[in-house]
Amino acid sequence: MDVVFDRGVYLPEVGLWLDALRKQDTSVISHAHSDHTARHRRPVLTPGTRLLLGEYLDRSEPVELDFGQTLDFPDCTITLYPAGHCLGSAQTLVEIKATGERLLYTGDLRVQPSPINEGHQPVPCDVLVIESTYGRPDYVFPPQEEAIGTAVRVVAQWIEQGAVPVVMGWRLGKAQEALYHLLSAGFRVACEDSVYEIAQRYEQAGVVFPGEYRPGNGECREGEAMLFPPGRKSREMVNRIKPERRPVRYLELTGWAAGPGVKPWGRGRPGDASLPYSDHADFNDLVAYVDTVRPRQVYTVFGFPDLADHLRRKGYSAIHLGKNATEADRAFQMPLL
Ligand SMILES: [Zn+2]
Repeated sequence: MDVVFDRGVYLPEVGLWLDALRKQDTSVISHAHSDHTARHRRPVLTPGTRLLLGEYLDRSEPVELDFGQTLDFPDCTITLYPAGHCLGSAQTLVEIKATGERLLYTGDLRVQPSPINEGHQPVPCDVLVIESTYGRPDYVFPPQEEAIGTAVRVVAQWIEQGAVPVVMGWRLGKAQEALYHLLSAGFRVACEDSVYEIAQRYEQAGVVFPGEYRPGNGECREGEAMLFPPGRKSREMVNRIKPERRPVRYLELTGWAAGPGVKPWGRGRPGDASLPYSDHADFNDLVAYVDTVRPRQVYTVFGFPDLADHLRRKGYSAIHLGKNATEADRAFQMPLL
């Protein structure tokens, strides 16, 4: 089955777009991160993703599809399954009517459990289109509890030293997970306003955060942890509101902290500390996922081509579809044993 990757995944045989970045008549939106969305006329998405996207889709006619519910198209049906990446994130199973083939598009995938997301579900398929954000053997994350435990100790230490501790995580998903873990550890937390608003939407979806948190754009209080998205704007804002003479310390939670040359204490990353914690699958999780769903053809998208190389060596027919794809990525394919 042909799979085209061109600012989204397109299946020409059935005329279906998945995560198209240009406006389409109909496209699945796998989850609410902006690198997977556009204002389609009829976006197909889960109620959780719809809730997170809010007014972004005001001019669209969204088609909400619960996990496990099937939507009929002329040449295929689609069913959404949890992807575990953030609230509402979905894998899409496309079943082709003419051939009976099953194509699974993972979108962004997270295999490890999260306290605030629907847990991922492996979906057996014939053709797998899988993300490879961390699809390079360097990116193997330690157990989540380890990164969280270290983060909690570091933040407590900074508070004790009189510093303003700022935890950085992407505003949608990662930040709310960090919020959950910080509250579980007993911290009071002030969130950057957009992080706070998105946490409120998680609550609307039924997520219960284990403690008190507040919007934090206006003021920095003694003894609190601050939770902000990464980036220059956050640093400028924290510098504006921090009390005089209190130093600011930044702790970054990101899968890139597992990369070569990165040291946990500030070398190679923008924070004072960087800990490997991600809402994506790491390399081993991705390979294990492929082994679980047993496709006869794999396409990798969004990340490193190394995952496809590795899968070919394991005997899968695997192709990396990406801007940097070369003929070499397509070579040496072996049939699945
Ligand atoms: Zn994402």
